[in-house]
Amino acid sequence: MTQPADQPHLVVIGGGAAGLLILRQLSHSPPVPNLKLTLIDHKAFFEYTPSLIAVLFAKEEEDVDRHYHTITRDYEDVARAWKFEFIGASVEHIDQGGVRVKGQSEPICFTHLVIAVGSLWAEPWSLPSSSNLLSRQERLADLRRHRQRYLEASSVLCVGGGPLSVEIGGEILTARPQTEVTIVSSSKHLLSEVPAKVGEAAKSILCRKNAKVIVGEKAREVSSGVYETSESKERLVADLVYLGQGSRPNTAFLSNSPLFAHQLTDKGNIRVDDHLRLHDHPNIYAIGDCNSVSEPKMFYTAHMQAIYFLQAFTSQLRNEEAPAYQGVLTSQIVSLGPSRGVAYTVGLSMTGYPFKEGSKLASVAKWAVERMSMDVASTKGLGNRALYAIQHRGGTVARMGKKVGCL
Ligand SMILES: Cc1cc2nc3c(=O)[nH]c(=O)nc-3n(C[C@H](O)[C@H](O)[C@H](O)COP(=O)(O)OP(=O)(O)OC[C@H]3O[C@@H](n4cnc5c(N)ncnc54)[C@H](O)[C@@H]3O)c2cc1C
Repeated sequence: MTQPADQPHLVVIGGGAAGLLILRQLSHSPPVPNLKLTLIDHKAFFEYTPSLIAVLFAKEEEDVDRHYHTITRDYEDVARAWKFEFIGASVEHIDQGGVRVKGQSEPICFTHLVIAVGSLWAEPWSLPSSSNLLSRQERLADLRRHRQRYLEASSVLCVGGGPLSVEIGGEILTARPQTEVTIVSSSKHLLSEVPAKVGEAAKSILCRKNAKVIVGEKAREVSSGVYETSESKERLVADLVYLGQGSRPNTAFLSNSPLFAHQLTDKGNIRVDDHLRLHDHPNIYAIGDCNSVSEPKMFYTAHMQAIYFLQAFTSQLRNEEAPAYQGVLTSQIVSLGPSRGVAYTVGLSMTGYPFKEGSKLASVAKWAVERMSMDVASTKGLGNRALYAIQHRGGTVARMGKKVGCL
């Protein structure tokens, strides 16, 4: 597993939100001169998942391909530009010998490892299977297949009241207002992770667009395609059902590995200490959706953990101890169609009040975060470092906000 300490070699499994930001930062400002960097991913490209909803439900046909291409980049190109090694393969196992990937007998050795394999999502967001390395073209073809099913549907049921369902409802009712959209939320307010007034604003905007929003009830599938609500026992039938919940950590491949036998929670998250490292394996970190940190599993939190990792890893290479990860303030930007949204960040709500269509500013913020995440104008590193400085719970903004009672 280990290599000589004078040649540190960081292997990153998963080039999504957390993994790609880590590689970008370490390749641009390596903390030691001879750091070797390797990315392993089972698809050939980076994809900015938060914009997939806007791609799939775009009003204009030509916007599907156009937008998709602006939110994806082939890892080969990125690796060439940022100077890291890319191995396009699926990780099947990690043991004392190193990382074992499909189709290769020799393990990939490392001195330090980041596991950032994210979540498994329900359709239509789950990756299609591919006999080779999944390409952008194959993914786009799969999204187009799902789009066709959506275009043929006249009613859609979204189970769950989180950002995914709210965004799906908002996009569909803007692009095809004649679609019957029902959202069922088990919590009393939509967007339960942010203050109730933000969820209430989202609900009233969706209802003005003729969505049916049922709150405080669960929806259970009683027979194929037929759902029933838990309290009012209302039967819901729709041409298409999107499950807003139900993602789980993408860690099944670790369950047979003795190294990880006691490192997975019941839900499959990798247990980490307060430095985001595995207990007993200080050179192995788990970052983002796949770890056991108790905070919302989001692109944003994966990015924030990646920025923390960069500090912790640099300290580790210098034989210093970094302060513990304290988490970040809640932040959510939820679009309600291409030009409106609602948001909550650093104690501020954006709902577009007193107007009733949502906030234009929230929509601009959503677009700006997309562009930053795609590293337009080299903003990915700087932008996320600035966000972390503002948002991390040990920082000045959080401490001051707590003192004056707005956070
Ligand atoms: C439709 C949709 C909309 C979303 N909208 C938002 C939003 O608006 N805001 C927000 O903050 N979050 C949003 N999220 C959540 C967000 O995408 C995730 O929380 C985030 O991507 C997690 O980052 P990560 O780095 O942990 O994992 P990911 O970004 O999921 O990256 C994991 C990577 O690991 C690779 N991988 C997995 N298993 C293996 C393996 N065995 N071998 C090799 N490679 C592997 C995958 O190919 C992938 O590249 C959304 C998610 C979806 C599906």
